[in-house]
Amino acid sequence: MRRHTFEPEHEQFRDSVRHFMQAEVAPHVDRWRAAGVVDREVYLKAGAAGLLCTWADEKFGGAGIEDFRFEQIIIEENIRHGDIGFYINLHSNLVAPYIAKLGNEEQQARLMPAIVSGEKILAVAMTEPGTGSDLAGMKTRAEDRGDHWLLNGSKTYISNGILADVIVVAARTDPASKHGLGLFLVEGGMEGFERGAKLNKMGLRSQDTAELFFNDVKVPKANVLGEPTMGFRYLARFLAQERLVAAIGSMSAAQTAFDLTLDYVKERKAFGRPIGTFQNSRFVMAQMRAELDALQCYIDQSVLALNASELTPEDASVAKLLASELEGKVMDNCVQLHGGAGYMDEYRICRMYQDARISRIFAGTSEIMKEIIGRSLGLDDRKLG
Ligand SMILES: Cc1cc2nc3c(=O)[nH]c(=O)nc-3n(C[C@H](O)[C@H](O)[C@H](O)COP(=O)(O)OP(=O)(O)OC[C@H]3O[C@@H](n4cnc5c(N)ncnc54)[C@H](O)[C@@H]3O)c2cc1C
Repeated sequence: MRRHTFEPEHEQFRDSVRHFMQAEVAPHVDRWRAAGVVDREVYLKAGAAGLLCTWADEKFGGAGIEDFRFEQIIIEENIRHGDIGFYINLHSNLVAPYIAKLGNEEQQARLMPAIVSGEKILAVAMTEPGTGSDLAGMKTRAEDRGDHWLLNGSKTYISNGILADVIVVAARTDPASKHGLGLFLVEGGMEGFERGAKLNKMGLRSQDTAELFFNDVKVPKANVLGEPTMGFRYLARFLAQERLVAAIGSMSAAQTAFDLTLDYVKERKAFGRPIGTFQNSRFVMAQMRAELDALQCYIDQSVLALNASELTPEDASVAKLLASELEGKVMDNCVQLHGGAGYMDEYRICRMYQDARISRIFAGTSEIMKEIIGRSLGLDDRKLG
């Protein structure tokens, strides 16, 4: 189905983003996968091309366009023609908003220009060895020491963990309250801040995921985002956008897998005819096409709702849940339709299958999405006597 939410200016922008991804990202994917990390320079190139934080204020080098369709296009084109391991959406849409929307004027002026240009790469660190879904179980703590906060603890599975120059770190600030949480800007080179080795993963091979350690790190007061006890409220503020970003990525990956599989089943022959012409293949492709089209409408409408500040966390959780589950199903079907070739690393579908598995886990697991949606229906067991 033709998508109806884009204007001609979006389509022009899509062409230029596609060109960037094909020229500056795609040629490096094999090398990045072998290295387990992308080149820093790709962020600088994306910044120079105006592809980082399109929404950022012009005084910081952004385009000042508060239309999430442009960011949607960047995410989609990066996944289709670039590299899912180039985590441009983490930088632009999951971390930079914390600094741009919660940071004070001094923090914004100090950091945003280098974030928009790609000189400073971003990460966000919530998850710990002992807790992920249940953030209230976080152990990393920060103590107020007058002119600074003293940070101690560790984080794990942190995307951009090796490359990041600035990391938004969540830490407990009030021992008396489960929900007293602060967000701290930890910068590369701060004494006591160390990075572990790159973690070896099932997929996302070019994405540097790492453990981070904080041993008596003195975080200046100037590096606290907002109020140091309001972290939970701040996290909730950005959840809808974060989940929609994940959903957009899942849909783009699923649609890309579908398209390359359609080409494959038209080409590949068995029993004297293209495998796509077997009734089973045709039905599997038809079912996927139907589900992809229907869900894409929901995602596109969610982007418009986000633009209108009307996207609720529950709506975004629906998008994330359904898109990541559909992505998993589509990848599995597409590998099956490729036969043995689908199990070979040289075929893109093999890599996509591995990359897709994380979508149902990170940015909130499918089970947590169901909890959020279920509770919004008035089915909250926490409210039972
Ligand atoms: C490649 C990768 C990149 C990541 N990037 C980042 C990052 O940049 N920053 C960051 O902070 N984190 C990151 N994460 C961490 C990710 O967000 C967590 O792994 C995820 O939130 C799940 O937490 P967990 O691993 O502790 O699983 P757990 O919370 O231990 O969950 C294990 C299982 O229990 C289920 N479960 C938990 N609670 C409930 C419940 N209440 N009801 C029903 N089922 C439940 C879960 O759904 C899951 O199936 C990343 C992880 C990976 C693998």
